Amino acid sequence: MNLASLTAVQEWTWLGLKADQWIAVAGGSVGLAGVLVAWRALVHAKRSAKASEDSARAAQKSADEAATISGIERERWHDELTPTDQKEVVGQVEGRLPDVQGLFGTIRVNRVCRVNAVATVRATDVTTTTPITGLPLLLRPNREYRFHIQRLTQGVTVRSEVWFRFWPPIPELDGADWTCQCGRPLSKEATPDGRGHWEVLLPIKLKAL
Ligand SMILES: [Zn+2]
Repeated sequence: MNLASLTAVQEWTWLGLKADQWIAVAGGSVGLAGVLVAWRALVHAKRSAKASEDSARAAQKSADEAATISGIERERWHDELTPTDQKEVVGQVEGRLPDVQGLFGTIRVNRVCRVNAVATVRATDVTTTTPITGLPLLLRPNREYRFHIQRLTQGVTVRSEVWFRFWPPIPELDGADWTCQCGRPLSKEATPDGRGHWEVLLPIKLKAL
């Protein structure tokens, strides 16, 4: 192995060239100048490959960043479209006689939406849910909807939360055409587990009698 080969072997290690690439350059009856030219060509090729790899990586990175940003935007819009601003349900007890008293609550929405709601009560590790009654399927804004949470009979556990599931309206059926573009299912029927497009859990605050 001559001097040029030795130098090149060191460079080769540093450049991470494969042995067969080097052999392709050094093999045969090329003179020292030829070896150097070929070696420079290889170095150049390596560098260009590295540069285009870098720019491909940079392009991928900015594409990923753009996707993340638009994902964040979509989530922000989704949150902003949550149909209610209510933070609690005021629980009102109605009925004078024990055993015929009922617990009622109200909900207001800020845009036409579909709803399904259940009342829940949590024990240590079990959450019991019961359907509420009196809410229509479709809620409209600027109205207060009153619903029945439960009967308050002797010894019954008072429900502590109302769990609302909201969906955007279905344009053909509900005569309203706003929607959310976050990608979550847009109707109860389109959601295998029945999860709401928005899930809102509101505590029931009993109104002082
Ligand atoms: Zn959404």
